[in-house]
Amino acid sequence: MSRVYNFSAGPAVLPEEVLREAAEEMLDYRGIGMSVMEMSHRSKPFQEIIDTAEADLRELMKIPEDYEVLFLQGGASQQFAAVPMNLMKNGVADYIVTGQWAKKAAQEAEKYGKVNIIASSADKTFSYIPDVSDLPVSEDADYVYICENNTIYGTKYKELPDTKGKTLVADVSSCFLSEPHDVKKYGVIYGGVQKNIGPAGTVIVIIRKDLISDEVLPGTPTMLKYKTHADAGSLYNTPPAYGIYICGKVFKWLKKRGGLGAMKEYNERKAKVLYDYLDQSKMFRGTVEKKDRSLMNVPFVIGDADLEAKFIQESKAAGFENLKGHRTVGGMRASIYNAMPIEGVEALVAFMKKFEEENL
Ligand SMILES: *Cc1c(COP(=O)(O)O)cnc(C)c1O
Repeated sequence: MSRVYNFSAGPAVLPEEVLREAAEEMLDYRGIGMSVMEMSHRSKPFQEIIDTAEADLRELMKIPEDYEVLFLQGGASQQFAAVPMNLMKNGVADYIVTGQWAKKAAQEAEKYGKVNIIASSADKTFSYIPDVSDLPVSEDADYVYICENNTIYGTKYKELPDTKGKTLVADVSSCFLSEPHDVKKYGVIYGGVQKNIGPAGTVIVIIRKDLISDEVLPGTPTMLKYKTHADAGSLYNTPPAYGIYICGKVFKWLKKRGGLGAMKEYNERKAKVLYDYLDQSKMFRGTVEKKDRSLMNVPFVIGDADLEAKFIQESKAAGFENLKGHRTVGGMRASIYNAMPIEGVEALVAFMKKFEEENL
């Protein structure tokens, strides 16, 4: 068996320790004679799995009591509709567009009400985060929406926007648990887990309880109503059971590593290895404003399509997978989520140095 260094943006690398444990428990989960995939979601062992996962997540993120934690399906993209359907009481929302995911969310919300784009970085192909310290927040906005880490472009908010008292909603898919989040500052935090936490198929929604109600837009499907899932402890219907189980293991792994503060330090150290190299390279360069750089997704270019193709091909042959940039951006992108060891980034930089020497 040999594992590659997987720089995929998602689904992405998971901790090897977690995968080994899951493999050990695959045929017989703790003596009950079946795998977690095969057990009833109404069974006692599964109830324990989901309860433990929630408790560990609450501990990791210091989630206050007046917030609900939901484990749902439909991916992050389904939340693009669920958010306006549940939260648009006035029929108005403000969106900050910093990339494709925020743009898609705004476009979806337009189906349900009035969407105001109160800031955007589209003018420079989303290579920066706009100044969000004094935004023209709409008086009647039900919420202000951000995508906190822009997976495709590699930018991240270092300061949350001043929403002038309005509810902040954040898609944190690609920075979930990469560092501490101050949950109190948000009304809703959500993300698909396949970037930084677990297997595709589970989305976690953390939502302040007063935002959960029966007053949703007319026609909202039962399954898209937060109250449906909050009332049922995420067990209204069959949840993404196996995904929740793996997420639970990743939460334990994060706790063992010292929690989110320790993770942030590690992620900063790890990203620095790559950014420092990019900043002095004569061949490669990063594509976003330094102050807005993501710790999780690092896009970079050579600026020569043939050399980039060569780099991607040779890096793959050397055991570095999925370094090709997003199809809409080109170039390269290294996603270096929690489970990517610093050794992986050091090895990548060594490979890039060698490539630079040989091809410059
Ligand atoms: C990947 C991603 C999405 C889409 O997630 P799905 O689970 O595929 O719907 C949305 N937002 C962000 C920030 C992402 O990185």
